Amino acid sequence: MENNFETSAIRIQSERTQFSEHSTPLYLTSSFVFEDSEEMRASFAEEKDRNLYSRFSNPNTSEFVNKIIAMEGAESGYAFATGMSAVFSTFGALLNAGDHIVSCRSVFGSTHSLFTKFLPKWNINTSYFKINEVDQIESLIQPNTKILYAESPTNPAVDILDLELLNSIAKKHNLLLVIDNCFATPYLQNPIKFGADIVIHSATKLIDGQGRVLGGVAVGKEELIREIYLFSRNTGPAMSPFNAWVLSKSLETLAVRVEKHCENALKVAGFLEKHPNVNKVKYPFLKSHPQYEIAKKQMKLGGNVVAFEIKGGIEKGKQFLDNIKLCSLSANLGDTRTIITHPASTTHNKLSTEDRLETGITDGLVRISVGLEHIDDIINDLKQAIES
Ligand SMILES: *Cc1c(COP(=O)(O)O)cnc(C)c1O
Repeated sequence: MENNFETSAIRIQSERTQFSEHSTPLYLTSSFVFEDSEEMRASFAEEKDRNLYSRFSNPNTSEFVNKIIAMEGAESGYAFATGMSAVFSTFGALLNAGDHIVSCRSVFGSTHSLFTKFLPKWNINTSYFKINEVDQIESLIQPNTKILYAESPTNPAVDILDLELLNSIAKKHNLLLVIDNCFATPYLQNPIKFGADIVIHSATKLIDGQGRVLGGVAVGKEELIREIYLFSRNTGPAMSPFNAWVLSKSLETLAVRVEKHCENALKVAGFLEKHPNVNKVKYPFLKSHPQYEIAKKQMKLGGNVVAFEIKGGIEKGKQFLDNIKLCSLSANLGDTRTIITHPASTTHNKLSTEDRLETGITDGLVRISVGLEHIDDIINDLKQAIES
């Protein structure tokens, strides 16, 4: 019988060394040695499954990837230095010049820059659908479309896309379905169960969960990951053994951390929803969320990000941020520390106002990544900042 999620997160480990260590050691080595010329030849010919060079694999990165594979129900995977290198290498490996992508317009800022500034260098262009126009996806598909791409929940507006629906469109038109599952983590949502071919994570967020290291991972079908692996072992975006060691330890506590993050986030969302100085709170597990039913169908809990709007526009929004005392103003998310951002003036400032509004980023939108401080302290800080 396969182990449950929490058990895999803890018990998948690299083989013990001669020292019988209980906790996996850090393998800081760039390369690995061979017994003789024949072993070396066979290893390079891939007749043997073993480590050669840490750009290809390393015991720490393999342990980390094997955990994510188990957690997502995938066949194979590869670990990257960052979430963005996982996104870019997936496109680099699976697309040819002249191919086409259909993507939701609400995607991470740097992913949007890949679509608009960099992939077009190889004549790879992207057509977008808006979050509330999923009925138009099929009309965007061209003969050269290869990938249907989406995030759910989206960053920063926490909208939800129906993974089952995306999969049915992808299968009907023979497209690869690639899902950035960063906001949900493998604990809350497994897109492969709904038919996704590749699932990507920025491990920098809740997977690390403590704001220490950068990392990324792509998992999915064996033959696709093989392409991603070959592309990456030659182009060099590998995760470092040190980061893999940190991230593999982080996964041991992912389930308990994410449970508590979600519990706190739901309380923050409930508090904000009742506050008279607040407009439009968005949290996937609030009944008022436009895609509440879909969120309930595909996610275990609502995640740790809450989006809301302060009454009084951009001025009040800035005042609110300046009055925050406990929480951090920072660009990251998924940390033990509660983090507040104002996307319009920071992470999404490169977008035109029109593009911002299309992705649901109004001038007054505030995004909170709810942390693990005591819930009363988080809410008290928000309350005094909203009211002062
Ligand atoms: C942060 C993030 C990324 C990029 O990850 P990095 O590790 O910062 O490169 C990609 N997608 C989403 C949804 C993110 O939040």
